[in-house]
Amino acid sequence: MGREVPLLFNKKKWMGRVMEWAMKDETFRFQLFRYIDVLPSLRSDALVLKVLKEYFTEEAHTPVMLKKGIERISRSTFIPYIAAKVIRAAVESIARQFIAGKDPADALKPLNSLLESGFAFSVDLLGEVVVSDVEALASTKNYLGLLDLLSPEITGWARDPLPENDKKRSVPRLDISLKVTSLYSQMDPLDFEVSVESVKENLRQIFRKAQEVGVSVCLDMEHYYFKDLILAVFKSILDEFEDYPFAGVALQAYLKDAKEDLLGLIEWVKARRRRISVRLVKGAYWDYETALNRQKGWPVPVFLDKGETDLNFEELTRILFENSEFIYPAIATHNLRSVSNAIAFAESSGLSKDFFEFQMLYGMGEPLRNTLKDMGYRVRVYGPVGELIPGMAYLVRRLLENTSNESFVRQCFAEGKPLEELIKAPEIERAVVAGHREEGIFRNQPPMDFSQAENRESIKDSLGKMKSDFSRRYPLSIGNQEIYTDREIVSHNPANPREVIGRVSLATKKEAERAIEEARKAFDMWKKKVPQERAEYLFRVAEEMRRLRSELIALEIYEVGKTWKDADGDVNEAIDYCEYYGREMIRLGTPIRLGDFPGEENEYHYEPRGVGVVISPWNFPLAIPAGMISAGIVTGNCIIFKPSGLSPVAGWRLSEIFKTSGIPSGVLQFLPGPGNEVGEYLVSHPETDFIAFTGSKDVGLDIVKRAGETRPGQRSIKKVIAEMGGKNAIIIDETADMDEAVTGVLESFLGYQGQKCSACSRVIVIGEVFDKFCGRLRGAVESIRIGPPEEPGTFMGPVIDEGAVKKIGRYIERGMNEGKPLLLRKAEGEGYFIGPAIFGDVGPGSPIAQEEIFGPVLVIMRARDMDEAIDIANDSLYALTGGVFSRSPANIRKAEEGFRAGNLYINRKITGAFVGRQPFGGAGLSGVGSKAGGPDYLLKFMNPRSISENTLRRGFAYSVRFPPK
Ligand code: NAD
Repeated sequence: MGREVPLLFNKKKWMGRVMEWAMKDETFRFQLFRYIDVLPSLRSDALVLKVLKEYFTEEAHTPVMLKKGIERISRSTFIPYIAAKVIRAAVESIARQFIAGKDPADALKPLNSLLESGFAFSVDLLGEVVVSDVEALASTKNYLGLLDLLSPEITGWARDPLPENDKKRSVPRLDISLKVTSLYSQMDPLDFEVSVESVKENLRQIFRKAQEVGVSVCLDMEHYYFKDLILAVFKSILDEFEDYPFAGVALQAYLKDAKEDLLGLIEWVKARRRRISVRLVKGAYWDYETALNRQKGWPVPVFLDKGETDLNFEELTRILFENSEFIYPAIATHNLRSVSNAIAFAESSGLSKDFFEFQMLYGMGEPLRNTLKDMGYRVRVYGPVGELIPGMAYLVRRLLENTSNESFVRQCFAEGKPLEELIKAPEIERAVVAGHREEGIFRNQPPMDFSQAENRESIKDSLGKMKSDFSRRYPLSIGNQEIYTDREIVSHNPANPREVIGRVSLATKKEAERAIEEARKAFDMWKKKVPQERAEYLFRVAEEMRRLRSELIALEIYEVGKTWKDADGDVNEAIDYCEYYGREMIRLGTPIRLGDFPGEENEYHYEPRGVGVVISPWNFPLAIPAGMISAGIVTGNCIIFKPSGLSPVAGWRLSEIFKTSGIPSGVLQFLPGPGNEVGEYLVSHPETDFIAFTGSKDVGLDIVKRAGETRPGQRSIKKVIAEMGGKNAIIIDETADMDEAVTGVLESFLGYQGQKCSACSRVIVIGEVFDKFCGRLRGAVESIRIGPPEEPGTFMGPVIDEGAVKKIGRYIERGMNEGKPLLLRKAEGEGYFIGPAIFGDVGPGSPIAQEEIFGPVLVIMRARDMDEAIDIANDSLYALTGGVFSRSPANIRKAEEGFRAGNLYINRKITGAFVGRQPFGGAGLSGVGSKAGGPDYLLKFMNPRSISENTLRRGFAYSVRFPPK
């Protein structure tokens, strides 16, 4: 390879020098790449410089020379304009290193010259994340257009760049790399079969055209979550194109199950006696896969040690070569060792050079690729084509890859490591493989991984079985007695109201009185149990919920119309509360010593309050009551649980699960009843000591008022723990990543049909991105599937009841008068379906921008700048959740300081708080600030107490409570 140095590392050029700084300092490297990432979306010169300053001048790691330069530019009046142009041009020239052109026509020249130099190529069309059918269609058209444009050009070229390509093992000189997820916006392994069929509608057109013009197609491998789905799509489309010999798929050697997948593919092609190609890569999403899977609590699918990936790559190369009768291997790497290994293996097995090809990325490893070509090997260059904004994710990935410590390209060209080191066999540093978490600490229940077939099957199975339980009668439960009453609440399936989920007995004041008596009786016994013992009951409840998980998910789907993922989220949160509060009580249960004086002992500990009332809503029918009940009982109180009348069967199921944990009689009573009768009675009763309530603002404030009155016989001041509604806003500024903003708003707005207290119902867009954002969001909302939540592909189900349909409908009518409808989608079905509505040009003070609608209605407002956006967001009685999509450090800081919301989220959706990670609860009229799932939640259920003892007896001090260890 001689002394050839890629431009990126050429220290004589400015680009090489900046990269040198970046490789010396990790913080600067990330700031630099983050700035490069945001740059293309900055529309004005002023913004380019403002954000530049934010990223670099306040950052200690920026090289002094650069910092001074930026400060000088910002002070001058004329230079900014020129400087912005220079910066854009500089980043564009970096991008040009890795991206072949902004569209296929633009890419023709560089591709042509590659071809002239003897390389074949594969074109990868860069694009935004596809969120709508319109975008999926546009993406399909782009691929078709690409084939139309390039194929005549390429067939016109006289010389075939691939050596030996006229022989039996000929392959097309042009290949396209396809991202399957860009062809169908609702692609999700959760809805496996439908996803396969739906994506094929567009994919088929591309295959047909590719076959017609003699181009090969390779399905790129994407995130692990989609892996099995992509492989299924590959096999399914191939079955339709039996006589098309040029289809391929990429496999990632960093995946632990790559070998199993490869062997499976080989079996599959062997059985069909056909040939495919496999592009073997190491994998480009290592950081994403490790971070995301850890966040979810799923096993990390990638090798943690780079050496293991390299070893796996070598083994997979061997398997590919051994099966070259069925597979045309494309060895995609820039690593000299991996390349040498492939060559050595091919030579020792007597395979000629036309049995395989090497692939290298455009702009990377040029010296190596030139050498291989000169040695007579087939080399294909993988060349991305596309605009800079969608190309940024790709570019930043390449820059990170090139400059990471483990990068072969960096070691070879920037650090000049000796050859022997570069080609030595991969080693595994076991230290890296060690686990990342301590044992024994709280961990969130991992969500169900619906990319796994057995999980999908278990939900389907439970949905089927549950039907046989419909219409059952359920009793109240007081002490150890089950009571069936004449009055019942009938619970319906909101997606199909003719289906009765169950009939639950209703309490009257008489049963409420008995429940209080039973709870009072049990309190003396229960409060004396040690915290560890009370916590053990919660751990058993959590275990039982884990065992019944699929059944509980099915129940929520039927009773409150949650989709699979939302129902799963609720069940997991219920489990988390039990696990978390159990541990919290053990922590808080140890008395602490205050002060340190001989002869004086001051003990501080917590005591339960007494008898508590838990009043819960229907929208998180397991998690919210499970949280309030478990917090109540683990702290030593006895509880009367009044579920919502709209989710009584889930309430019954939960109380049964608590019972199976063996909690003593009287600790928990299950008492469904009308809120304004039984609820009010319990709240006002002199023998109840606290109320844990979650629900609407009006009911919450009423409870606060009633509880504030002291009645005859009452011996404690009632404590109210109240979590109420929200009118939550998301701010999107001009630096936001639009892909993330659109998907984040979509999920926050329409997750559970907008019936989450944390849901987004207001969006405030700053500056010029308004139209782009609205257009993409509209497309996304138009593309989601609305239907019965039993069906796995449903994104949006019904709202809870007829009352909700009417109330939401009235707000939509108001919206027509108060603003401009940006989208009104119809929803049909027998159940309580109502289509989403989006309004623009709404005054911030108008009722649809102020009142909690609790349904799929969104208002989008405009703001000049971040200050105004925060003012609009704060113009609300509520302050529950809020979000910001921005890549401006200054704007993010402003939001942190000024955006009034109990839970503020930056660059992510605003729903789905995790216990122990995002303690949940609002300020303003959204709640009393108790923060469910946080470290001080249990304190609200207890009274602190201090005992001080003089331990001096006859001048002799002995420590009684805190004996020396
Ligand atoms: P809701 O206020 O109508 O009912 C909540 C509970 O209060 C039910 O069990 C109901 O029977 C009971 N209730 C009604 N009137 C009562 C009275 N006079 N005295 C005592 N109890 C009475 O709320 P909902 O429709 O079930 O739930 C939706 C509301 O809950 C929304 O406003 C939502 O924002 C809020 N919510 C808040 C959070 C949060 O954590 N902040 C979480 C979920 C839901």
